Amino acid sequence: MDYSLLVSAAGGQIRGFFADTKESAEAARKNHNTTPVVTAAVGRLLTGTAIMGLMLKNDKDLLTVSFKGDGPIKGLIATADSKGNVKGYAYEPHVVLPLKPNGKLDVGGGIGAGHIHIIKDMGLKEPFTSTIPLISGEVAEDMTRYFAVSEQIPSVVSLGVLVDTDLSVKYSGGFVVQLMPGATDDIIDKLEDNLKTLDSITNMMGKGLGPEGIMNTVLKGLEPRINETKPIRFFCGCSKEKAKSALRLIGREEIKDISDTEGKANIHCHFCNSDYAFLKDELLELMQEEE
Ligand code: ZN
Repeated sequence: MDYSLLVSAAGGQIRGFFADTKESAEAARKNHNTTPVVTAAVGRLLTGTAIMGLMLKNDKDLLTVSFKGDGPIKGLIATADSKGNVKGYAYEPHVVLPLKPNGKLDVGGGIGAGHIHIIKDMGLKEPFTSTIPLISGEVAEDMTRYFAVSEQIPSVVSLGVLVDTDLSVKYSGGFVVQLMPGATDDIIDKLEDNLKTLDSITNMMGKGLGPEGIMNTVLKGLEPRINETKPIRFFCGCSKEKAKSALRLIGREEIKDISDTEGKANIHCHFCNSDYAFLKDELLELMQEEE
């Protein structure tokens, strides 16, 4: 079961989120049968987005994070809520790229140059939105920059996905650590020291460290305290009923047109790759509702 630890350290001068997201990343991979570089890209995005979702204050708040770039993957999108539900996909799921010289999957090359776009819907009249240029397309660095530029919170974001030889997700996880206002220099120095010698997420997971172990490594000597443990899961929530609502939105004329020409309608959910088919009699029913 995927989960995240919500942590405070150094007497509240630091907050952190440490997550294991293997099952969620694997669910996303299976939905679209993604190639390794896309599996890594989506897994990193799901992890970062799930953690950002946990920062939302209210049950109904919703976060959407999208990456758009000129690379072959073209874009990624994920949404999350404050309860640990997350879903996401890549525009092009079957991209194949050579490994980088360091042997890592080339997520940055897959995304290319572009923008990260963040929408936080907190039930207000207008959602909060922010768009900033990508630094690397490697996801973690771009999220770090988002926190610095748009939220003015000094943060460290580290995300990792290791794809197994059978193409399934072997490890997926990550953390976000943030300095709270008034964090003192000695606390910042201590944290920086810990980060300097820090191994990658997937190497740490490979050594058997879970969120607790990674927390204790990142926040060594900073007295980390677990405030809450929250489950994370890939959850789409689409249904035939919701697909029907989407069809209703296009209006009677359009439905009639589809019914006359195609004889059926298909609503596709990109998040979980489900299809909802509406046959002619169902379309007819929908049109009668509209009258
Ligand atoms: Zn769905």
